[in-house]
Amino acid sequence: MIDPILYTIRLGSFEIPIRWYGLLIASSMALGLWLAAREAARRGESPDDLLKAAEIALIGGLVGARLYYVLFNLDYYQTQPWWRIFAVLEGGLAIHGGLIAGIAVTGVDTLISTFEQVFRTPHIVVRQNLQVPPGVTQPRLVIMPTASLPKLFGKPLDRLEPGDTGSAIQGEVTFEGSDVGGTNVVAILEGADPALRGEYVALGAHNDAIGIVPPVDHDSIRAYNTVMRPRGANDPPGEPNAEQAARITAMVDSMRKLHPARLDSIVNGADDDGSGSMALLEIAEAVSRSSTRPKRSLLFVWHTGEESGLQGSRWFTDNPTVPRDSIVAQINSDMIARGGPDDEARRDPAYLQVIGSRRLSTELGDLAETVNRDGGFNLAFDYSYDADGHPDNFYCRSDHYMYARYGIPIAFFSTGGHRDYHQVTDEIEYLDFDKYSRVTSFIRSVVERVANLDHRVVVDKPKPDPTAPCQQ
Ligand SMILES: [Zn+2]
Repeated sequence: MIDPILYTIRLGSFEIPIRWYGLLIASSMALGLWLAAREAARRGESPDDLLKAAEIALIGGLVGARLYYVLFNLDYYQTQPWWRIFAVLEGGLAIHGGLIAGIAVTGVDTLISTFEQVFRTPHIVVRQNLQVPPGVTQPRLVIMPTASLPKLFGKPLDRLEPGDTGSAIQGEVTFEGSDVGGTNVVAILEGADPALRGEYVALGAHNDAIGIVPPVDHDSIRAYNTVMRPRGANDPPGEPNAEQAARITAMVDSMRKLHPARLDSIVNGADDDGSGSMALLEIAEAVSRSSTRPKRSLLFVWHTGEESGLQGSRWFTDNPTVPRDSIVAQINSDMIARGGPDDEARRDPAYLQVIGSRRLSTELGDLAETVNRDGGFNLAFDYSYDADGHPDNFYCRSDHYMYARYGIPIAFFSTGGHRDYHQVTDEIEYLDFDKYSRVTSFIRSVVERVANLDHRVVVDKPKPDPTAPCQQ
């Protein structure tokens, strides 16, 4: 008969016997892992994921094997001090329990990785913007006790008619913020070159919009903005003169012939920044399916809380999930599906605003132009909004700035402002999809170009102080 003990490891006074069946189980586990690795490679899955699953299965299996053994010998363990349950070296791992638990916990692998993410990801608290929105001089809503209404209107609530006015009330308008949780969404597409995949080209967009506003009629607000605010919220509101009022009325009347008033209170943000967010998804899909992956890795970050003060990008750059210095450049896409001839007459269909592309790296700015020319995109770059001291201050107003303040070269691409900017009318029907796909393809090419350079894009301008206020 074969001795069940193959070999005994001695560690001081400890003796660990290696048994034949243990060796058989260990070698079948290794064989299983090798077969699974082959299968994973055939399916194009990452070997890292497999190793992680194996790790979880092993740990779960050990716990299960012991639990199974202890449960089936409960009579014995009830007579023992509790710590003996953990005295594994005295023997007692049941292979059946190991198999059951190992398979079970591997099944919940996705659950575990979800929890792991929740615990690893720092929680962002998005604060409401406490600045009073421009143009707001009085509260949108006043809540008061019914009993005080007669004092204000001179008659009780049930006798009030629409349009009744009361005496003036005085008070101070302050905005009280509330904190809500927010989440950046981060994804990495690993680069092809083992020597360069530790460096990242970051792509950014924002997944928040400005939310809910008091209900307004879609057609009325659009007609008003067409005449009075061609750049939407970027232009101040004003009182139309007689000629302007007539144009607005004519537009609304023509829309009324097509459909009745459409009240809306949701600022959908189709262009701002549904366009940038979805462009990043498209780029991620296209690059991951392409036969040639870029040498450096791509880092996709969908930021939260942009509209309330670049809060998600501030958080991400203060608490990056990859070493900050490994981010060689950041390309920001915010509002990239408009800017056609219908938006502002002076613009041509190739119009593209380029902001900040040479503020840290001349090379990055040059490269964007080369890609535009050599790639046949022929977009008409407008650098006017990038001028120092420009009143619109766009360089400081989107997520890219949070990267730039750490000395990471950035380029911000946008098809610019329009009458639907920060309005309920920022809807998908007004996007120009030909333009959108042209700009998205261009951005992808810029990103791939930077990711494939044989050197990091060169920073030849002074790095700013990350804690100083932004100055365009
Ligand atoms: Zn935006």
